[in-house]
Amino acid sequence: MEITERTAFLGLGRMGLPMARRLAGAAAELTVWNRTPGRAEDLAAAAAPAEAVHGAGVVVTMLADPAAVAEVAKQFLPALEPGTLWIEMSSIGPQAAAELRAQLPDGVTMVDAPVLGSVGPAATGDLVVYAGGEDADLDRAQPVLERLGRVVRCGGPGTGAALKVVVIGAVVTAVTAVGEALAVAEQLGVPDELARGALAAGPLAGVMARATATEADFPIRLAAKDLALASGGPVFEAARTTLLADPALAEQDLSAIVPPRRHRPA
Ligand code: NAP
Repeated sequence: MEITERTAFLGLGRMGLPMARRLAGAAAELTVWNRTPGRAEDLAAAAAPAEAVHGAGVVVTMLADPAAVAEVAKQFLPALEPGTLWIEMSSIGPQAAAELRAQLPDGVTMVDAPVLGSVGPAATGDLVVYAGGEDADLDRAQPVLERLGRVVRCGGPGTGAALKVVVIGAVVTAVTAVGEALAVAEQLGVPDELARGALAAGPLAGVMARATATEADFPIRLAAKDLALASGGPVFEAARTTLLADPALAEQDLSAIVPPRRHRPA
């Protein structure tokens, strides 16, 4: 489906840049912005959020966390024309999404559409997109969202943000648990290959695949942020404490929590 509306994309991090590139291939007009300049490569870049959204029918944000989205929203919301659709794709949870919806200017609507999948699927359009919003807004967002991945329509406003917290909370906690299981294997003298093979052959096969992924680039600082968004029970909280215990791992992919801990070059 062609993207006919003029589109602005804010946030060119490790996910945002490949996503913006996907949209550039399908959108008639795309303007991008990033806080730190020089990330836009050959995409048409604006100097400020308000400039990027000028005249846009659709605005997409892909930023680090609730504070980042709130800060950028403060800069572009007053510049939106009535009728603009904001597609918020960062992982910020339903509470932050509701707070942002409460600040929308008259006539501006919002879809919460966080994604599952890392930088590879972001570049190839193979993310899973959890979309929440009013039906008419979800229909309007569809050409953008389906260019980025498989769209799961979750229901009304906030439901996409909520489902993302649920799924990523379970995934991050499970990967952290596998890391602990392999450390226990070492303590008990179970050969590493034997333990890994047994885990991969059982019900945790998918978790083992994520725990040993070499292509993913989901920093541990963001995984810990996602667990905080869940403000969940003791198991999520224990996983979060484990993830934050070694600050040297903060910028490493989640798989670095699995021993032997790999400190990859940044
Ligand atoms: P990232 O590489 O750290 O990029 C974060 C982006 O947010 C950058 O563009 C950064 O700008 C911007 N930013 C941070 N604080 C800001 C502020 N105060 N004001 C303005 N801009 C700010 O993160 P990412 O991996 O692309 O993740 C983006 C979102 O997608 C996160 O919510 C993450 O949880 C989620 N996610 C990530 C993955 C993954 O595998 N990485 C997968 C699925 C979902 P600068 O360049 O100026 O720092």
